[in-house]
Amino acid sequence: MSLEIGKLKEKPKAIVIGSGAAGLASAIRLAQKGYAVDVFEANAYAGGKISVVEGKGYRFDAGPSLFTLPQLVTELFTLCGEDPSGHFTYHRKEVACHYFWQDGTALKAWADAKAFAREVEEQLGVNARIVDRYLRDAAQAYEATHTLFLESSLHRLKTYLQPAVLKAMGHLHKLYLLSTLNQVNQKKLKHPKLVQLFNRFATYNGSSPYQTPGVMSMIPHLEHNLGTYYPKGGMHSITTSLLGLAKRQQVRFYFNERVEEIITERGRVSGVRTARGSYKAEVVFSNMDVVPTYRKLMPTAKAPEKTLGQARSSSALIFYWGITKQFPELELHNIFFSEDYKGEFEAIFEEQSVYADPTIYVNISSKEEATDAPPGCENWFVMVNVPANTGQDWEALTARIRQQVIQHLSKRLDTDIASLIAFEELLDPRSIENKTYSYQGALYGAASNDPLSAFLRHPNFSWQFSNLFFCGGSVHPGGGVPLALLSARIATALVPDV
Ligand SMILES: Cc1cc2nc3c(=O)[nH]c(=O)nc-3n(C[C@H](O)[C@H](O)[C@H](O)COP(=O)(O)OP(=O)(O)OC[C@H]3O[C@@H](n4cnc5c(N)ncnc54)[C@H](O)[C@@H]3O)c2cc1C
Repeated sequence: MSLEIGKLKEKPKAIVIGSGAAGLASAIRLAQKGYAVDVFEANAYAGGKISVVEGKGYRFDAGPSLFTLPQLVTELFTLCGEDPSGHFTYHRKEVACHYFWQDGTALKAWADAKAFAREVEEQLGVNARIVDRYLRDAAQAYEATHTLFLESSLHRLKTYLQPAVLKAMGHLHKLYLLSTLNQVNQKKLKHPKLVQLFNRFATYNGSSPYQTPGVMSMIPHLEHNLGTYYPKGGMHSITTSLLGLAKRQQVRFYFNERVEEIITERGRVSGVRTARGSYKAEVVFSNMDVVPTYRKLMPTAKAPEKTLGQARSSSALIFYWGITKQFPELELHNIFFSEDYKGEFEAIFEEQSVYADPTIYVNISSKEEATDAPPGCENWFVMVNVPANTGQDWEALTARIRQQVIQHLSKRLDTDIASLIAFEELLDPRSIENKTYSYQGALYGAASNDPLSAFLRHPNFSWQFSNLFFCGGSVHPGGGVPLALLSARIATALVPDV
């Protein structure tokens, strides 16, 4: 025992600020590299946005609900020499999403690309070859570019000497960098409902399809070729399983201990300061949103103003509703589209407000895990896209949207939804910011509404301090659980092995 402690003492120290998905993944990877890792977390719990809400027999995943690229979680277990199946399991979903329009049209988006194309032909009368071709193009573009754009640092010269660059260049014309996603979809899909369905993928990184570049047309490849998954125990099991794994790698967690300063000395970071004291480290990782990392933890450092000044991605208003009835017509993921998608995104990104009759996302994990709701009931996570918080009157907006959502869903499902709500909690942009320190409560850091968004995100390292690194949804390669996990992989690869 004393020998082991002796060994630990000899290891160089790494500190991770925050235990979101990327903070946990970075801590695990740094421990594997031979560092003694301490994680400081402001909350009493790990996981950041991947947490839970519970009450009256209902359990809800508080944040993310759509799970793609599960191998990015399991590779962390394999990296540590563990069999992931003993700790984290998941199954593939046959139906990626159930879509509903206000005129009564409904469509099941099968994860299998061929089945999806057939369903589109049956429900919308669009030849299956159109969706088939769209998804084939998306697959080719993704395969040609993901190594460069999602798995490498875009801010290191070395990256541009890789064969991946040549491969990506060969597919430049399929990246549609000079068109918007909506323009690409209009051209390729034409049918207004199909265009709306594929425009929706812009919301996967909190952007507007009318502004985000056409390169986002490769996102459907994740759902319809690679598939969507459901982790046993819900999304929260990503947090619990990675926390357990990190602890088995001897990572130490300091909960309820917010970092207040990153201490810098002569071009290097020497450690961090919390209300309880100062801690030294050879390497510091910030999993805190990059804007408050600069503004609050190192206000005197040279901040990359252009990067930090970018408009934020959308945020969300979420109602966690315990519903005393079951709806067989609903799936795990359900979308009830608004009539005017363009108006909806203009309201969010230009007026910083919420459209009168917004698109509604309903996630029901009790469809997969019956114990998430009492018998005969369902746990509804009801989400509407809203702008990031710039001081709007959220009380008034929430009251208005709640009414609108109840009215819309009651009509579509032919049931008085208000009378079925037995439990209710709320999350809005302000509470997202309070709970996770995400600047303005944005879900995905900066919005990707610029053709150069990929290059405008903050790198995974600091230009100023050689031993300071960044991971998480607000830095490269972007927001969402898979990209946050990739940010940890990219950032830790930049740290020397011990
Ligand atoms: C409502 C909602 C729905 C979403 N839906 C999806 C989805 O369906 N699919 C998907 O892939 N993604 C989704 N996302 C996005 C996804 O949740 C995030 O991109 C991802 O979880 C971000 O992880 P992160 O590593 O950046 O850390 P975060 O989850 O942002 O956590 C950061 C952590 O750092 C801690 N921290 C911050 N500052 C300090 C400090 N100074 N000291 C100590 N600790 C600090 C915070 O307390 C927090 O625990 C959603 C997000 C939300 C909120």
